[in-house]
Amino acid sequence: MNIVILLGAPGSGKGTVAAKLAAENANLKHVSSGDLLRGAVAKGTEAGQAAKGYMEAGKLVPDELIATMIKDVIAESTGDVTMLLDGFPRNVAQAEILEKTGAEIRSVVLLDVPDAIIQDRIAGRRTCPKCKAGYHVKALPPKVEGKCDHCGTDLVIRKDDNPETVKDRLVVYHQQTEPLIAYYKAKGLLRVIDGDQGPEKNAAAFKAAM
Ligand code: ATP
Ligand code: MG
Repeated sequence: MNIVILLGAPGSGKGTVAAKLAAENANLKHVSSGDLLRGAVAKGTEAGQAAKGYMEAGKLVPDELIATMIKDVIAESTGDVTMLLDGFPRNVAQAEILEKTGAEIRSVVLLDVPDAIIQDRIAGRRTCPKCKAGYHVKALPPKVEGKCDHCGTDLVIRKDDNPETVKDRLVVYHQQTEPLIAYYKAKGLLRVIDGDQGPEKNAAAFKAAM
């Protein structure tokens, strides 16, 4: 098993790109740290209860909490699978934890999107709480308004997708996650693609870069 890391600001389209590529290729496994955490919150597990407040405030949850979940997923994965790791690592400490697992990182792809575009994108975002599919009212509308194309579930607006929390998430991104760009560049693993080409072209550019 090897790993392709998706790097990018909140709303840069990491999840959409990974979900699309994984749907097209059975050997790709999309692992979203945010989805793992939201699943734990919904189930009310100990980890979920510990994570909830941080997530609602747009802050990072403690490194060990999310790292334990990711390590479990890595440990369960066998065979000829490439993991598209979306949302982890989120800071240098997490990158170091990931290295210690011995997992092989094939590449780190940065979806580059200017901050000015992020707020708009997140404002139009809708998510399926059941199968996690992502939509945008303008850029990627569902076939039937308000319903998931795949499972028909009513789409929701994520609790942390309000403009105030998005501002905080962007601050966290610039302070804590952006240093990973230099970190992986120094290791020769970084590829940068324009994340503002629309979902289809973003996915194609990503596939070519990974
Ligand atoms: P997007 O929704 O576009 O993916 P995002 O990357 O901010 O944007 P998620 O990855 O879903 O959203 O993360 C949601 C929240 O979950 C984060 O704001 C944070 O609280 C928590 N979280 C997710 N991944 C991590 C991580 N690696 N370390 C710490 N906290 C995390
Ligand atoms: Mg995400």
